[in-house]
Amino acid sequence: MTDDATFQRAYIGLGSNLETPQRYVLTALNELAMLPLCRLNAHSRLYASRPLGPQDQPDFINAVAILDTRFSPLALLDQLQALEQRHGRLRQRRWGPRTLDLDLLLYADSHINVPRLRIPHPEMTRRAFVLVPLAEVAPELTLPDGQRIDALARDMQQDGLRVVLPER
Ligand code: ATP
Ligand code: CA
Ligand code: CA
Repeated sequence: MTDDATFQRAYIGLGSNLETPQRYVLTALNELAMLPLCRLNAHSRLYASRPLGPQDQPDFINAVAILDTRFSPLALLDQLQALEQRHGRLRQRRWGPRTLDLDLLLYADSHINVPRLRIPHPEMTRRAFVLVPLAEVAPELTLPDGQRIDALARDMQQDGLRVVLPER
């Protein structure tokens, strides 16, 4: 990366289903705010969604962050995976899998398709827990293919998705 790289807007999907997943998502938001060469522009409220399948496991907690960054897409992915790893060490010692998942949803208008990184995230338009918080922080956003995020979120089946933080 060159010194004169300008900030690019990236959208990060955060998820956790640890036993205290809200805390993990809030911690991760703080960690995103501390990343070098990045500015945390905004983040959504925290949403809970019921797990698919067995119900005797914690709800998933999800949020979306807008991160302005001078990292290239792959360098940003390195940073996100390093944060996951830091949580992952804790995860392997004490808990089951999936304490923290950080997906790079969008990076400017980029299309990237290499095994390590697919942007836009290929599943994002099928996931209410991505589209709804994304539409909250960026209602005017359009995908690189022109689809409007607010329309995609509105058309989405939103059963079981609810805001948990801030509490009403
Ligand atoms: P999904 O990507 O469907 O949400 P997941 O988040 O559970 O599944 P992971 O196990 O976290 O999948 O990641 C698997 C691999 O996906 C990672 O090693 C990473 O390199 C790759 N990957 C590809 N595109 C992206 C992206 N846009 N953001 C994050 N990781 C990505
Ligand atoms: Ca994911
Ligand atoms: Ca992931």
